Amino acid sequence: MALTERLYYNDSHLIEFEARVIDVTERVSGWVALVLDRTAFYPTGGGQPSDTGTLNGSRVVECIDDGERGVLHVVQGSAPRRDAVVAGRVDWARRLDHIQQHTGQHILSQAFITLFNAPTKSFRVLETSCEIDVELNNPTTEIIERAVELANNVVWEDRLITIHNVSAQEAAAMPLRKESSREGELRLIEIEGFDLTPCGGTHAYRTGEVGMIAMRSWERAKGLTRIEFVAGGRALADYRKANRSAREMAALFSTGRDDAVQLAAQLVEENKELHRQVHALEAIAAGVEAERLLASAHVTTDGTRIVAQVFEARDAESLKKLAHAIISQPQTIALLGSRDSDTARLVFARSADASADMSALMREACTLLDGRGGGRPDMAQGGGKNVAQLGEAINGAAQSLGEAAR
Ligand SMILES: [Zn+2]
Repeated sequence: MALTERLYYNDSHLIEFEARVIDVTERVSGWVALVLDRTAFYPTGGGQPSDTGTLNGSRVVECIDDGERGVLHVVQGSAPRRDAVVAGRVDWARRLDHIQQHTGQHILSQAFITLFNAPTKSFRVLETSCEIDVELNNPTTEIIERAVELANNVVWEDRLITIHNVSAQEAAAMPLRKESSREGELRLIEIEGFDLTPCGGTHAYRTGEVGMIAMRSWERAKGLTRIEFVAGGRALADYRKANRSAREMAALFSTGRDDAVQLAAQLVEENKELHRQVHALEAIAAGVEAERLLASAHVTTDGTRIVAQVFEARDAESLKKLAHAIISQPQTIALLGSRDSDTARLVFARSADASADMSALMREACTLLDGRGGGRPDMAQGGGKNVAQLGEAINGAAQSLGEAAR
């Protein structure tokens, strides 16, 4: 089987070409895979996604490196026959994007070596950003930004990028950034006066084409430092997005973009303080409410005051606060309930010097509500779906304490 001549090896900017179909195979999906005698399509590999484009007008949705067999072009729509001569066209916007990300990675990886002797272990072009995993100890944003700064200087110096095909023996004597696992002839990518590394990808003619490299985020991952970055058009897209977010945020504070963070931090502090004040006021309010309820509470023969009360749409936290305020008084029992459209909730509590088992009372009350509940002898919670029975459940609990509730 003949090899596909890989035109993208010689010229990363060649996007139109003619070729002959040398093999056609039907894919399970119903799509067709073509092998050509020559191609400008870059297949998925080396952390770089495949090119897309057209062959005689039919969509090439993916290209796969099939080693000795060549490059498989997965075609959607009508496919040419074997031996047909086809006109190929690579999607330039996507190719340029990959050139910018991939060349940007070469530059950024060398910047980490130059400054910190920190090699790159892996590289991925993702949907909207890229990742490199760098052997960088003690990373900080400041340290990473120093490498990004150097990388951008190399971009703006618009250095020439050249391809050298050398033997393994020649390569062994050269200062390569990383070893290659390939046998035989090696393809080296040289960024003038900065970087030399074996690579089979598509690169810029000059570093200026990368435009710009920006770090989005970083984290420690599996003993390495994972750095998310964007280059070229992706950096512009990301800037626009970040700028829009920052401006929308600033508009909420009726301030300029760069003052919003300080105002947001101030608001968060004020909000915490307000929460503290609300909690303090709630405690006071619960105390006042407890006094009022205790003043009209039923008093049993042994002098225990029982507060039995149903509220509308009061949350469990608020019920508990009120119960605590009631039982902070000696010889008291609180049987409190609340209901909304589909849920009834209960809180039963007693002061330390009162008797009766709140947990047992709660379990009994909850059977009436078709629900569940329990807790400790001095404090129990529960609830259920049978909202209509809430009053009955509380009355039942009060009665079993020896007296009828109001
Ligand atoms: Zn490369």
